[in-house]
Amino acid sequence: MSAPADTSYSHIINGERTGSETTAPVYNPATGQVFAEVPVATRNDLDRAVAAAKAAFPGWAATPLAERQAIVSAIGDRLEEHAEEFLALLTAEQGKPRSMAEWEVYGSIAWFREIAKQSLPEEVLEDTPDRKVISRTTPLGVVGAIVPWNFPILLAVWKIAPALVTGNTMIVKPSPFTPLCDLKLVELVQDLLPPGVLSALSGDDELGKWITAHPDIAKIAFTGSTETGRHVMASAAATLKRVTLELGGNDPAIVLPDVDPKTVAPQIFWAAFQNNAQFCNAAKRIYIHDDVYDAVRDELVAYARTVVVGDGALADTQLGPIQNLQQLAKVTEYFDDCTANGYTFALGGTIDTEAEGWFVPVTLVDNPPEDSRLVAEEPFGPILPLLKWSDEADVIRRANDTIWGLGATVWGVDLEAVERIGRQLEAGTVWLNEVHEYSPHQVFGGHKQSGIGAENSLHGLAEYTNHQTVALNRTPGAVG
Ligand code: NAD
Repeated sequence: MSAPADTSYSHIINGERTGSETTAPVYNPATGQVFAEVPVATRNDLDRAVAAAKAAFPGWAATPLAERQAIVSAIGDRLEEHAEEFLALLTAEQGKPRSMAEWEVYGSIAWFREIAKQSLPEEVLEDTPDRKVISRTTPLGVVGAIVPWNFPILLAVWKIAPALVTGNTMIVKPSPFTPLCDLKLVELVQDLLPPGVLSALSGDDELGKWITAHPDIAKIAFTGSTETGRHVMASAAATLKRVTLELGGNDPAIVLPDVDPKTVAPQIFWAAFQNNAQFCNAAKRIYIHDDVYDAVRDELVAYARTVVVGDGALADTQLGPIQNLQQLAKVTEYFDDCTANGYTFALGGTIDTEAEGWFVPVTLVDNPPEDSRLVAEEPFGPILPLLKWSDEADVIRRANDTIWGLGATVWGVDLEAVERIGRQLEAGTVWLNEVHEYSPHQVFGGHKQSGIGAENSLHGLAEYTNHQTVALNRTPGAVG
């Protein structure tokens, strides 16, 4: 018999733990068992959280920057003190193994501390006896943060830290599939903040819609799918909310003919399969030069066979399960489509539907057509197309022939060729002979339908602010 579900999780509204009449189950994807119950927010819960955030805004915005920065840094310290609890909870609700949980939790701690050092100083544009003109920024007000299930902590932190540093108040809505870490984090830091500055509401997609339509919310910071991003933008238009949209991707990886197949294979593997390929920036189409195609494919297969898929809570697991049943159904469609069309599986291809937990085998598909669903869409799971190329201009065209433009990688020994190709790719981040290197000081965002706006760096910070010009006419006698 499994343990009773943990019902201790609550919304945090105006600094207080609050429940709702209705609750929803939270599953451990490695077992398929419910292990917690969370409240499901009503419209009234949202109204109360927004009212509290609105009331807290003037005081928080007027708090000196250095004080806000110190608090954001202290939130990082608080997370560090509880890191072990978060590592276990993240694995339980998301499925990711310890190494990935560490990347996310310790990354989040670093983000709080580094974003806390950022600021947008006033610029003096003119300072003459006659006139002073200043360019400065002001906070927006109440911000709604809507978070997906693949990196539930880190992608919330990418929103919380800059929002608070710049003087906004925020309501965080985690994904209904992974609400626990975010509810816990917001609860854990309440004593560091005035009530209402940072709230969390657990709820379903309806709550997301209400947030995007709420008249007293000034901005939506959203990470999720391109399809949902379109809904968010449409809904935000009614009240002209600011939006930052971090959306889906179909990142190409281009492998040049001069690589050593054995050396590059593990790197390509992890570029594609890290976080069980439930990664916006996963390499999702691998274009391998004809000269090395067979060798790289074979090395990828050989390496993939060594990778341990299992319950993330077990010490030797390297890849966990699919996070939720909806996503499992979606990923299964790609397996079925490849089978129905007779594409060749270089590895994997069959999902064991009897398995306990929501597991899918690492699957490599050998040179499917460019217009196959697997190549053209975003599967967001561990099934990867390997494709051949021979002409540089043609592979660049194919890499760019997509509505998405989130990330891209190029792998090769000839650094001039690597950079030449990389600079022609239409993507917000182009990694050359590396991948998934992020920094709080490096701008991150999507081109084309992978997003609007940016997170991280001073560009990301500025998205939580209005621009304001303050012009003072000092001419003696100008007004009296
Ligand atoms: P999703 O779009 O289904 O859900 C994201 C969030 O939006 C959830 O909290 C959900 O409850 C909420 N939501 C759903 N419908 C809504 C609506 N109509 N209005 C407002 N909110 C709504 O995405 P997901 O399945 O949780 O995440 C996977 C997707 O996110 C993938 O496409 C992936 O590429 C993308 N992603 C992008 C980035 C990035 O930074 N660009 C990072 C991670 C994930």
